[in-house]
Amino acid sequence: MDSNIGEIYDVAIIGGGLAGMTLACLLGRAAGLKIACIDGQDPQKQIREDARTTAISYGSAKILEEAGIWAALEGKACPIEDIRILDGASPVLLNFLSTEAGGKSFGWIADNADIRRALLARMSALKNIEHIAPQNVKDFVVSPDGGYVNVVAEGQSIKARLVVGADGRNSATREWMGVRTRDWNYRQRAVICTVAHEYPHENAAVEHFWPSGPFAVLPMTDGENGVHRSSVVFTEHGSKRNSLMRLTPQEFEAELNVRFPKEYGTVRMINERMCFPLSLVHAASYIAPRMALVADAAHGIHPIAGQGLNLGFRDVKALADLVCAAARAGGDAGADALLAAYQRQRRFDNMTMVAVTDALVRLFSNNIPPVRFLRRAGLRAVSRLPPAKRFFMRQAMGDR
Ligand SMILES: Cc1cc2nc3c(=O)[nH]c(=O)nc-3n(C[C@H](O)[C@H](O)[C@H](O)COP(=O)(O)OP(=O)(O)OC[C@H]3O[C@@H](n4cnc5c(N)ncnc54)[C@H](O)[C@@H]3O)c2cc1C
Repeated sequence: MDSNIGEIYDVAIIGGGLAGMTLACLLGRAAGLKIACIDGQDPQKQIREDARTTAISYGSAKILEEAGIWAALEGKACPIEDIRILDGASPVLLNFLSTEAGGKSFGWIADNADIRRALLARMSALKNIEHIAPQNVKDFVVSPDGGYVNVVAEGQSIKARLVVGADGRNSATREWMGVRTRDWNYRQRAVICTVAHEYPHENAAVEHFWPSGPFAVLPMTDGENGVHRSSVVFTEHGSKRNSLMRLTPQEFEAELNVRFPKEYGTVRMINERMCFPLSLVHAASYIAPRMALVADAAHGIHPIAGQGLNLGFRDVKALADLVCAAARAGGDAGADALLAAYQRQRRFDNMTMVAVTDALVRLFSNNIPPVRFLRRAGLRAVSRLPPAKRFFMRQAMGDR
């Protein structure tokens, strides 16, 4: 790896996850900017190990297009044309069809591994980005004159005008900045896997609220041999002793077949189950002198509405636009006014989604009869009120 000791980068990004790398690619469009993206893990290992998929909204796809990677994903990501919401044994309570939204897809389901591969390829094509990985950042120090930050990584130090923490929900950058958080543990876990099923999914995303927790089936493009595939997110509460992770593969497959919509036919697992503890974390501030937080480092939310990374994409787009505009005007990428503008642009949107997601978790993880009644009545009401339905469709698309 090249070391650039002595050189001052415009932006150093701590964390080359999906958000950090997207930020690097958006900034990389401004040829005059010098960018470093530092990650503690081996990127190829991350590709092998992250078996998750992400629901990418229509708005996020536009951001990925600007970042120069959407073309690489288009054939691989599966469009969502139909969203079906069910509650317990009730029939479909709420159904959104893309034909009701002007024929535009609600979004796409993409393999995280495909997004990561596309971002890595784009970063290596942009000559003003240095990707430093695997190398953990250990600390940082703001220079005595406040003109830059010295980022101390395992093998070297680098200087930058702006340091961005994109290091995920347990962000060490956030801690080093001295930023407090509002956080709680939902005492829930998401168990995920990819399955093959007998019949096609018709590009439908299904969210089924069972007393044991929400169960989502998300459409994927067919596998190489024409196998119909979907991604599954089981949310479970209660003790780890009763977790789905403790079932044998055969028992887990039987659970899947009980819960899957019957029109999918027989279902079998095609990769290993993974489990993620679910919590909420929101930073009290996204900025400090010459520092900013983006994506999960600023706000980590429950995946019930599939919006976590979509919010992160909106953060990195806002920050990249401000930094590129400053670069065009010959300004400083880490100026206080620029950082204050970033925080102003993003805080309200993120706070709203944190609150909405939290309310959804409470409403849909609750099986007390009056709550269940209100939930079903609410879903039916939305279904019958075209303006309310249009509002929710716009939210799902993230088209702003
Ligand atoms: C089950 C599940 C399903 C989800 N589904 C969706 C969905 O459908 N749609 C959606 O929008 N969102 C979804 N999300 C949320 C989404 O996965 C996250 O919002 C997203 O992964 C956050 O990306 P990030 O780049 O901010 O953080 P991360 O992916 O956590 O990346 C952080 C990176 O920082 C690196 N790092 C950490 N510390 C250091 C350090 N000290 N030095 C150097 N590098 C460091 C790590 O190695 C890592 O690569 C889901 C989440 C879960 C758990």
